[in-house]
Amino acid sequence: MLAVASENVERAATILQERERAGMSEVELTAADAVIDLDADTNSCPACLDPIPKGSTQCPGCGLRIG
Ligand SMILES: [Zn+2]
Repeated sequence: MLAVASENVERAATILQERERAGMSEVELTAADAVIDLDADTNSCPACLDPIPKGSTQCPGCGLRIG
C-alpha cells in the first residue's frame, strides 16, 4: 500500500506502472496489453501468444479458457 497526497495520485500510479513494466520481458508486455475481441477472426492468447481461431473457447497452445 502506498499513501500519497491526492494531487500526486496520478504521478504515483504512473511511476508504479513504469516500474512494474520495467521488469517484464517483451512477451510479458505483449501479453499484459492483450485484448481478446471475441468477434475477431483470430486472437492471440494472452498467456502464450498462440493464435486462437474464432469460436474457440480454449487456446490450442496452452489450454487457457476464454469466452
Ligand atoms: Zn495459450
